[in-house]
Amino acid sequence: MNLDPSFTDPKVIPRRTDTPEGAPMDILGLSRDELKEALIEAGIPARQASMRCGQIWRWVYHKGVTDFAAMTNIAGELHPVLAEKFRISRPEVSSAQYSGDGTRKYLMRFADGSEAETVYIPEDDRGTLCISAQVGCTLNCRFCHTGTQRLVRNLSAGEIVAQLMVARDDLGEWPASTMGRKITNIVMMGMGEPLYNFDNVKKALGIIMDKEGIQMSRRRITLSTAGVVPMIERAGKEINTNLAISLHAVTNELRDKIVPINRKYPIEELLAACKAYPGAHNARRITFEYVMLKDINDSDADARELVRLLRKYELPAKVNLIPFNPWPGAPYECSDWERIRAFSELIFAAGISAPIRMPRGRDIMAACGQLKSDSIKARRSAAKEDAR
Ligand code: SAH
Repeated sequence: MNLDPSFTDPKVIPRRTDTPEGAPMDILGLSRDELKEALIEAGIPARQASMRCGQIWRWVYHKGVTDFAAMTNIAGELHPVLAEKFRISRPEVSSAQYSGDGTRKYLMRFADGSEAETVYIPEDDRGTLCISAQVGCTLNCRFCHTGTQRLVRNLSAGEIVAQLMVARDDLGEWPASTMGRKITNIVMMGMGEPLYNFDNVKKALGIIMDKEGIQMSRRRITLSTAGVVPMIERAGKEINTNLAISLHAVTNELRDKIVPINRKYPIEELLAACKAYPGAHNARRITFEYVMLKDINDSDADARELVRLLRKYELPAKVNLIPFNPWPGAPYECSDWERIRAFSELIFAAGISAPIRMPRGRDIMAACGQLKSDSIKARRSAAKEDAR
């Protein structure tokens, strides 16, 4: 038996994300229309429902309030009614780690006990929150730590929105003014494949972009995919954020191996889908992520082929070179610094921007592809102990 977890198909666990009968309904994750409906069902007179919905929405998304009693413009006698029927949840933060470079990593534990990670990365001119779309991931990219996690489930829209709420709580970002924010950008680049959880990601981003709520601009949100080709078109039509593609290889032979979804959707189909992505012009370039793996995908010939492909498909592109972040047992090494520089320069020389992304939060294992909860590992070793 091959014990390498990358060769084992992860198990997707179905989970009820709807609210069991009688339990308070979580407001995070409801669209405004759904909240209004739910208020009417809870007995709020229909003629008041729009107003109450707007008031609650602003308390939740402008002020970060989690307690109905604090909603001072809502009549006092409604507070217990709301508290009985609704809740404004926060996942438990099972650990929050702060790196010396300002990066913060949160491990969130959701109601069913499963966990996902969220990372805040401050830079000079922006602050980016890297959000997870799934617990674990089914893709099994060979260089990615998350793929070694066996249990996978989709996060609900509320759980996706909650990651931003928790980070805002921690950064003291309430009330949510649009000026001087710490979290200015969002990338769907945490654990999981956002396009395998399309509906929930779409709904969550809709809530995050809502004009009366957090008001994050779609230009400041990037959705990253390993290449679920049929969903790229839908993402363009229905979500329309910036797009990032985890390319990592320029031949199907290699990409089949390191990004196995390529066997289903090969490079040509992927790049054609990028070409068709709305707004794919210079003002909105597509980001191509390229992890630098020593002696695997980092030759001059690879760089030239990358340029050729981007030109062939006439893609307005930016290449992000990511130094490989090793994790215990990883089957690859990071390319040498000189090699990464040379690779970058070859692409720049062709007129395509190819910055090298500096690893952040390495001291807390928060860098790209390292996301995987330690507690899973802890639980596994405890299980092994038990089995002895
Ligand atoms: N499933 C989505 C989003 C999650 S991965 C996607 O594939 O795009 C986020 C990014 O981190 C991807 O570009 C991924 O390829 C990269 N990555 C994963 N493991 C890494 C590692 N060990 N070192 C550097 N980058 C890694």
